[in-house]
Amino acid sequence: MSFDYDLFVIGGGSGGVRAARVAAGEAGAKVALAEEDRYGGTCVIRGCVPKKLMVFASEYSGMIEDAQAYGWDVQPGAFDWDMFHGKLVAELDRLEGIYRSILKNNGVESFDQRARLVDAHTVELTDGTRKTAKHILIATGGRPVVPDFPGSDLAITSNEIFHLDKLPESILIVGGGYIASEFAGIMNGLGVKTTQFYRGAQILRGFDEEARGLICEEMRQNGIDVRLGTNVLEMAKDGDQIRVKATDGTEDRFDVVMYATGRAPNADNLGLEELGVERGRKGEIVVDEYSQTAVPSIYAIGDVTDRVNLTPVAIREGMAFVETVFKGNPTPVDHALIPTAIFTQPEFGTVGLSEEEASAQEPIDVYATSFKPMQKAFAGGTQRVLMKLIVSQATRKVLGCHIVAPGAGEMIQLAGIAVKMGATKEDFDRTVAVHPVMAEELVTMRQPVRSA
Ligand SMILES: Cc1cc2nc3c(=O)[nH]c(=O)nc-3n(C[C@H](O)[C@H](O)[C@H](O)COP(=O)(O)OP(=O)(O)OC[C@H]3O[C@@H](n4cnc5c(N)ncnc54)[C@H](O)[C@@H]3O)c2cc1C
Repeated sequence: MSFDYDLFVIGGGSGGVRAARVAAGEAGAKVALAEEDRYGGTCVIRGCVPKKLMVFASEYSGMIEDAQAYGWDVQPGAFDWDMFHGKLVAELDRLEGIYRSILKNNGVESFDQRARLVDAHTVELTDGTRKTAKHILIATGGRPVVPDFPGSDLAITSNEIFHLDKLPESILIVGGGYIASEFAGIMNGLGVKTTQFYRGAQILRGFDEEARGLICEEMRQNGIDVRLGTNVLEMAKDGDQIRVKATDGTEDRFDVVMYATGRAPNADNLGLEELGVERGRKGEIVVDEYSQTAVPSIYAIGDVTDRVNLTPVAIREGMAFVETVFKGNPTPVDHALIPTAIFTQPEFGTVGLSEEEASAQEPIDVYATSFKPMQKAFAGGTQRVLMKLIVSQATRKVLGCHIVAPGAGEMIQLAGIAVKMGATKEDFDRTVAVHPVMAEELVTMRQPVRSA
């Protein structure tokens, strides 16, 4: 049977673009890709990249204060949202252009349209054109969802936060996950009066409790009104503002309310059910370790499969798919010990098991230290950092490493290599400290602070 293409990719985000490029450029496959919105997907257009640029923008307010404490004659001025936003839009346009040319230069034919499946080898585009392919890869990502309650239509999500007409004077951010917590820090740093509601007992559920506690404490020190155990009851328009009734009995007005309480996989209306592609509890596409669905010619990678929803993971899954299907080298994706950074202020870098997860699994020793870093302490700051290692008593392997500190994202990339290699606490100790840096504590902690 002959097909129009060897591979048709649906979705031009992190995973889809990488898979298409490598299949065409390295494996010589005939590849097409459909993207209904902008190339680069969530990460480039409305996720990691614009977020990190906003983190950078927001950190300058604190830096100016620190610079004064170090003797610099500098005065904080106002933040110019219009100027920053103009540059941000131009940068995203530039990056989208790069993604388009990556596809073109590798010989991938692209269609600026939505695609859906018609059968196990056929895709239909918005204009009704049908294309056949030996293999179909679904890489359609996910989207933010706002729960249904009175006034919920007044809320924006992370999709809109990058394109506000003007910087609000006040914002309510609802949610306790990494996106909500990162944007609380961003908005606060930009000078917006920031409130964060989270219905649970502590933000950043699932991560190490000591780290979560310190981050929340520092966010409050920075001026964010973090209200735990609090949710929105209802919202209503009140002039230019939004009146919010909360479960803690309070009623406040905000210029903007942003919801970051959850995301859903983009797997609806793709024609999956008719074909027998299995969906999970959240609607995600169920795949095996090779990213293959219940229909052998159809694969899925990235956020639409809801495994570990991070850009480098979607990319890995895309490359493993190409290895498996086009290079004759079956490659399962290794989802263990993925280092990751959360760009809260302070930043959080983490790999492996939290203290709570590890102690539920086996006897552990916990090495941890929390201190005022030199740079901030000299400037009179009260901020603390945390360096923490979770160590197996039986094997002495470092099961988890958790860092709350400026630059923690950079540090955890490197610590992640050691942890992934199976380094023991003694391997860490054999490594000579770099002095004077915060991370030297990772190799100088002698006694466990507790065992569990
Ligand atoms: C605010 C925010 C911050 C984030 N920060 C980070 C971070 O710091 N680090 C990190 O690693 N990850 C981060 N992420 C997660 C990261 O963006 C995702 O894990 C990653 O983009 C997933 O890639 P993907 O290829 O699965 O999907 P996406 O990048 O979402 O791409 C899917 C593409 O498919 C298109 N599409 C959907 N349906 C169709 C269809 N039927 N036909 C044609 N096209 C379609 C969409 O328009 C989209 O472009 C963040 C996410 C958000 C929302």
